[in-house]
Parts: sequence; C-alpha cells; structure tokens
Amino acid sequence: LNRRLAEFGTTIFAEMSALATSTGAINLGQGFPDTDGPEEVREAAVRALRDGRGNQYPPGPGVPELRRAVAEHQRRFYGLSYDPDTEVLVTAGATEALAASLLGLVEPGDEVIALEPYYDSYAAGIAMAGGTRVPVTLRPDGERYRLDPDELRAAVTDRTRLILLNTPHNPTGTVLDRDELAMIAELACERDLLVVTDEVYEHLVYDGEHVPLATFADRFPGLRERVLTISSAGKTYNFTGWKVGWVTGAPELVSAVRTAKQYLTFVSAGPFQYAVAEALALPDRYYTELADRLRATRDLLSEGLREAGLTVYRPAGTYFVTADIRPLGESDGFAFCRELPDRCGVVAIPNAVFYDHREEGAHFVRFAFCKRPEVIREAGARLARLA
Ligand code: PMP
Ligand code: GLN
Repeated sequence: LNRRLAEFGTTIFAEMSALATSTGAINLGQGFPDTDGPEEVREAAVRALRDGRGNQYPPGPGVPELRRAVAEHQRRFYGLSYDPDTEVLVTAGATEALAASLLGLVEPGDEVIALEPYYDSYAAGIAMAGGTRVPVTLRPDGERYRLDPDELRAAVTDRTRLILLNTPHNPTGTVLDRDELAMIAELACERDLLVVTDEVYEHLVYDGEHVPLATFADRFPGLRERVLTISSAGKTYNFTGWKVGWVTGAPELVSAVRTAKQYLTFVSAGPFQYAVAEALALPDRYYTELADRLRATRDLLSEGLREAGLTVYRPAGTYFVTADIRPLGESDGFAFCRELPDRCGVVAIPNAVFYDHREEGAHFVRFAFCKRPEVIREAGARLARLA
C-alpha cells in the first residue's frame, strides 16, 4: 500500500458488519435499509434487463433518460435548472462522484476543507487526489451539532481549493440551515473556492427542510460556477447495492468530473440507470412516506438509547443518531463498540473514525435507524441492558 493510502486499511463499515455477522448481533453500524425499495422500481430494472436496455456499455455520461430525470428532479424539488447534456453526469454511486470530483478538481498540495466528523471516503478521496484535508469540527450545541462560522472562515488559506460539504450530515444528522449555507456561499465567492456538496440524504429529513447550496446562486453571483452537487439513488430509494449516483453543476465542473470518471469506471449499472430514471419520477407521496417511516424509527431508537442512559443528539436528517456514552461512565467509543455485541447484541460505529481530532469524537457512537420498527424495538430492549 502506498503512503497516500497507508492510513486507510479496511473501512470501519466492513469491520463492523463482519463483527455483526460473526456475533449474530443486530447491525446498527453500516447504514443500509433492511427492506428493498419500491416494487415498481425493481420491476423497471427487470424490464430493462429483459429488454436489453443497458446490458452493454451505456453512454459515458449516463443514459439520457436518467440525466433528464435528474435534471427534472432538481427542478421539481428545488427549482434548479440544469442541462441534462452538459450539467448532469451519472456515476457509480455518490462514492465515485466524490472521488472523481476530487481527482478532477484538486491539484496535489491543495487544501480541502471538510466538516468533521466526515464520511470516511472523503479522507481517502482527498488523499488519492494528493490534497491535504483541513477539518473544521462540528460540535454539539443543545440538541444539534453546529458549525462555527469563524472556524470555517479561519480554516481558509491561500492553498484552499474546495470545501467538501455534506448536508444532511453523516454521522451527526445535522441539516445545515439557511444562515449557515448563506455564509458558506458568501465565503466561497469571496475567497474563490469550489464547493462540492454531498446531498445523498436530501430526502431523509425529519425536522425542517433540506436546502441545496446551489439554490443560493440567485443571491450570490458566481456561486453557480463554483458548486457541484452530488446525490444518489441508494438512500432515497432503498437500493444501496445498485450504486447509481450523479453530479449536477456548471459545465466546466461536470466536465472535470467526467474526465476523471472515464478512467475510474467509464460506466456502470446500465439497466439500473433506467430503473432509477423511473424512481426519480415517483409521486410526492413516496418521499413523504419514506421520511415518515424513518422519523418514526429515529424516535424509537432515540428513546431506546435515552432509556439505556446515553445522551442523544437529535438528528434532523440521515439514517443515523449519534449518542454520547459518557453518562454510562465510558469514554472510549472504539472499545465500547467492540464490546457492544457481547454486552447486548448490537453493533454500532465509533464516531472517532470520522475525526482527525480524535479526542473531539472519542466518546460518540453512531447508531443506524434505517431498519424495520420491530428490529429497532428489539435493539432498544437489548440496549436497555446497558443501563
Ligand atoms: N456520502 C455520504 C454522506 C454517505 O453516507 C454515503 C454512504 N452511503 C455515500 C456518500 C455513498 O453513497 P453511495 O452508496 O451512493 O456511493
Ligand atoms: N454510507 C454508509 C454509512 O455511513 C456506509 C457505506 C459503506 O459501507 N461504505 O454507514
């Protein structure tokens, strides 16, 4: 393994899912739903396979049906307009979109700011691009995690190339509000930065609303040319295994990502692209029901964790709730998560893996609630043994 990747070994998600399998514990570690997405979308994939649509290399930028559906989705939900031919690119999940964005936009030695705790592939993507990561820490403040605008401003230097944003935010569940987003938009324009914004949890919001950074382009001239938005089908349609993602943004940015993407996978998921094009057009009711179901399991799990004695930060979005284990007299999230299957038959993720400043996250643990209510109820009963 080369020096750039030396620190990355095996992802925490693989490690913890293996622990769940070997111990038979309930897996609230890796974030994936335990029910598949809509029947009609699965049928659409079967039809595409059977009709020979996408079984051979699809077009490099993605099938036109899907690019048009992505553009239409951005218009329908956010009033954003993108040209499906030059401003939309289909990728192998958001993971490839992130890696290709960093590879296509960052020069070796450039600094990339990421909100810490950050999703693990950000650090690896920045490293592969030869960039230097600069974490800006989100800290608990009352019920939610907050971004300190002064810390973000202070983190920008002459070497800063881009800000890697994530809202709704994994693992804290924070949904950035309009003031925070406006501040970031202003900073990007003022300091001539790019912003890559990972919005894969855009439809998983339980309090308030998701606002894409790109919608601030009306107020901040120059922003449209600086913002690249990433999303994917995994979380919105319960198909994390399909790995269909996309980026939207100004042509120069999308074209940089396309160049990198061509030599990573070239193309992927042919038949699934057609199915996701149909999923994007599902009626509003689908999206409301999805959020309603997850809000209920969020509340169920939060209640269980509270009853077990942990301090819970209320996630406004995502699949995850972060809890503080110090009220249990514990301070090492790694040790806690390694022992949890034996102690009570549950698997969780130590948030420390998402930090450069490990001490900031040492005592936080992430639990996924994207599971059926009966599974969350059973996990709650098991966690009660900790109290
Ligand atoms: N970004 C964030 C914040 C995530 O939590 C995940 C994990 N699901 C991804 C990106 C990766 O998404 P995909 O499965 O579409 O590659
Ligand atoms: N995004 C998912 C999570 O945060 C995991 C995806 C993965 O296993 N790489 O749990």
